[in-house]
Amino acid sequence: MKDLTRVVHHPTVSHEGFASLSVPTHRASTITFPDAEGFDNRRKRAPDGYFYGMYGTPTTRTLQAQLSELEGAERTMIVPSGQAAIALVFLTVLVPGDKVLIPDCVYPPTRLLCTRYLAARGIQHEVYEPLIGAGIGDLIDARTKLIWIESPGSTTMEIGDTAAITRAARQKGVLTGCDNTWATPLLFKPLAHGVDFATEALTKYIAGHSDIVLGSISVRDKQLYQRLWETQQVVGVGVSADDCFLALRGLETLGVRLAHCGRVSTEFASRLQQFPAVTRVMHPALPSSPGHEFWLRDFTGASGVFSVLLHPRTWPVLNPALSAMRVFTLGASWGGTHSLIGQRPVKDDRTLRAWTDEGPILRISIGLEDPDDLWEDLERLFTALGGPLTDRTDASP
Ligand SMILES: *Cc1c(COP(=O)(O)O)cnc(C)c1O
Repeated sequence: MKDLTRVVHHPTVSHEGFASLSVPTHRASTITFPDAEGFDNRRKRAPDGYFYGMYGTPTTRTLQAQLSELEGAERTMIVPSGQAAIALVFLTVLVPGDKVLIPDCVYPPTRLLCTRYLAARGIQHEVYEPLIGAGIGDLIDARTKLIWIESPGSTTMEIGDTAAITRAARQKGVLTGCDNTWATPLLFKPLAHGVDFATEALTKYIAGHSDIVLGSISVRDKQLYQRLWETQQVVGVGVSADDCFLALRGLETLGVRLAHCGRVSTEFASRLQQFPAVTRVMHPALPSSPGHEFWLRDFTGASGVFSVLLHPRTWPVLNPALSAMRVFTLGASWGGTHSLIGQRPVKDDRTLRAWTDEGPILRISIGLEDPDDLWEDLERLFTALGGPLTDRTDASP
């Protein structure tokens, strides 16, 4: 063999005796075959075997299998983002003439998928009240093919009666999907409550370090997986083994991170209610939070993300007070080790029932910093937002 060949072909080395606790990062676009017949028949390996890099390597399969175990699923697909997971379900189930039902508290890009993309292609959506429960049955007609669930709702944290919705859907032969990003499969298992597609933004708690974007779709039914796989193939969404490795690494510490963040967020949510600047704290563990009884019934705990509705008089001081924070960082993609805070207006994202509260809404994600430092930062913020509000009766929103 000459050098120009040697530089291209890697020598085979022994793996004998190499035993690591880390999952190897197997990267591939090309999968090779030992003989021509194997190559000619490569598609017969689909969807579980290896035949083309985009459809997975052993690193992807490890993450898929681990998530399937956690979700109580038969199969899990890994896609490039949480939003891609949602979009892939919608694109798999819906064809022109069909209708999807989405909750009014849905993750805003999910609504945009309906209004900006699907509507122009003849697929309609109807928005439902997050606490509708079994009443969802009345919204199902012959064109309804998918009911989307997100519980707790994005920012406003309503918890719905998932089992009542999936029961009504099943009676009428309609598929259901659930965006389970807030809870992760450690706190809620959508498939056990009758949901057909459970999606996660692995980007958030599961990867857990704010450095990758990745998503998953888990199903109990192999036929549904086959349909998802057919969509994935034509849409061409594959993922990098390096990102799967990072998600697998994050997963190892998910239990302790989530338990910590949930404990601190619940404690802070309860304490923040005392500040005069606060109109309402939205956290599923608070009895005042809509659907709290379903959280108690269905969830095994809380994660670290919650929201605070402020008094409208805080508007003029809000941005300087937020910019002065020392431990919290201003940012949107929550679920990492760094605590985040930021304003999340919901008014423009509501179409069923108008959002009438005029005050700003803050979304808070608790990270892994010392809770005392975090509380000191929050105390400073909420004090700056307004001690006695009568001091600022002249300020209007
Ligand atoms: C962030 C998020 C997503 C989307 O995740 P990406 O990986 O950022 O696309 C979907 N649903 C919810 C509830 C989210 O918070």
